Amino acid sequence: MDCHVHYSSPGGPEWIARFTDPLPEISMRAVELAETSLRSGVTTARDVGAPEGVSIRLARAARAGEVRAPNIRAAGTWIAHRGTYVSFARLFKEAGELRNAIKTEIEAGADLIKVALAGWNEGARPQDAPDIPFDKKLLAVAVEEAHKAGFKIACHANDAASCRIAAHAGVDSLEHGMFLEAQDLEAMVKYKTYLVPTMSVWDAMLYYARAVDWPEARRKRAEDLRQGSRVAVTAGIKAGVRIALGTDAGGGAARHGRIAREAELMVECGMEPRDALIAATSSAAALIGESERGTIEAGKIADLVLLDANPLENIGALRLIVDVFQEGRRVG
Ligand SMILES: [Zn+2]
Repeated sequence: MDCHVHYSSPGGPEWIARFTDPLPEISMRAVELAETSLRSGVTTARDVGAPEGVSIRLARAARAGEVRAPNIRAAGTWIAHRGTYVSFARLFKEAGELRNAIKTEIEAGADLIKVALAGWNEGARPQDAPDIPFDKKLLAVAVEEAHKAGFKIACHANDAASCRIAAHAGVDSLEHGMFLEAQDLEAMVKYKTYLVPTMSVWDAMLYYARAVDWPEARRKRAEDLRQGSRVAVTAGIKAGVRIALGTDAGGGAARHGRIAREAELMVECGMEPRDALIAATSSAAALIGESERGTIEAGKIADLVLLDANPLENIGALRLIVDVFQEGRRVG
């Protein structure tokens, strides 16, 4: 299971621009990328945000058997504060608008809510405004609204201030979390908040920094993010934070179909191969809310990946896919 994908973008060096491609292109590509993902062994995925709610339509098509795709749980469109983060998210300014945004996503058919904390975009910060406008109070509103409706809430946090706010808010999962500190990790244990580290993104960014010859400042940022992520994940493992595997394929430079890399990075950060597999199966199932999936047991749905070697001995064996089975049927 991959708990953090965006089938609406292919990833790669210009991933953000790909989210603003014409809608027909985004839609057709999403179908293709979901199939790529399935063939790479992802039988269930959480699509945590797409322009115009494309992910909801894709999840529906997958459920109806209209397309070859993983079982998808979709957040519709991201929810973010006006003036921050990406402009194609659903934007709000006040608590009332935030509540409406969440209701709108639920009515549109979202399976979960995805909010994004972030600082003001360059130059957009009004005078006397806080650094992070989507603050503790507003996040509490979002958590309350989502949980009241029986929905889980995932929170994008990729700077120190956002990590601090998200870790103490009781969200179901904290996405990215590169700058989580000891007290944040403690709070996540207390609130039973999952960390979805998405380390594949920084790994891929560094690759493109070299391959595409990025400017020095952008390369440096990629290095810092990777380092921050490794420190946070290593500390999170030690602190006993629940961790679920997610690549952020499409939502960053990471491409689809390479889930094995994320598991390798987890092991590099000190996780036992067994625990990396649990992060990608039963823990992921618990986070996504898939009680019929995630373990191999009599009576459960038979989503299976057949490998040529034992991943408990070498996690890289996840690359050696022989076959993929979905609900007992061979789809690989
Ligand atoms: Zn993402």
